[in-house]
Amino acid sequence: MMKKNMVIAIDGSSGVGKGTLAKALAAYLKLPYLDTGLLYRAVGRKMLEAHVSPESDEIIFFAENLEEKDWLRNDLRTPEIDQAASLVAANPKVRAALLNVQRYFARQKGGIMDGRDIGTVIFPSANIKFFLKASSRVRAKRRWLQFADPVSIQNEEQEIDKIEAELKQRDELDSSREIAPLRPAEDAILIDTDHKSADEVFKEVLNKVENHNKS
Ligand code: C5P
Repeated sequence: MMKKNMVIAIDGSSGVGKGTLAKALAAYLKLPYLDTGLLYRAVGRKMLEAHVSPESDEIIFFAENLEEKDWLRNDLRTPEIDQAASLVAANPKVRAALLNVQRYFARQKGGIMDGRDIGTVIFPSANIKFFLKASSRVRAKRRWLQFADPVSIQNEEQEIDKIEAELKQRDELDSSREIAPLRPAEDAILIDTDHKSADEVFKEVLNKVENHNKS
């Protein structure tokens, strides 16, 4: 039996398999799904478009008035926006505004929330929390497979090196920021996805959710 209004936190750095897992769980458990990275990406995109700093009033105003149409767009996954999202994500005022958006999202039906600080800050009392980990090399390879174009296949290793360096840089920014740094909540279940397929991760997590619901 599913608990009513269940909130499931899925945190971890990028390329770790959060999105794939969260989408599969949301479909299976019939819960709303929010990729919270998209909220930061929407604000990062605005920063690039408006040529303003991550601390500017314009950015804070934008974050405070963010609407679904701002994050449900398909042009938010670019290397420039990767970096811009990390910059705006270090601004406490942006985080406070987006905290409201995230809590509001899950208020009625619960949700599968995929992010960096869901278990620690946004939903400290989530029903169940997962923190996914994987080595930077494996994450870079997954990203490369996701986005590779046939031309770059010849330079596979160099492309993967480049992606790995960018991921490490972003991890460093996300883990070292003062506010809501990337780290597992004390009560999070750690899942190492390095040597597991998406399906194996899904089954492992679903099993834990079902056991949790029996208790
Ligand atoms: O998950 P994704 O790679 O789309 O996130 C983009 C950036 O947004 C992250 O590198 C991080 O800086 C920020 N972020 C965050 N907290 C979240 C989700 C994303 O700080 N819950």
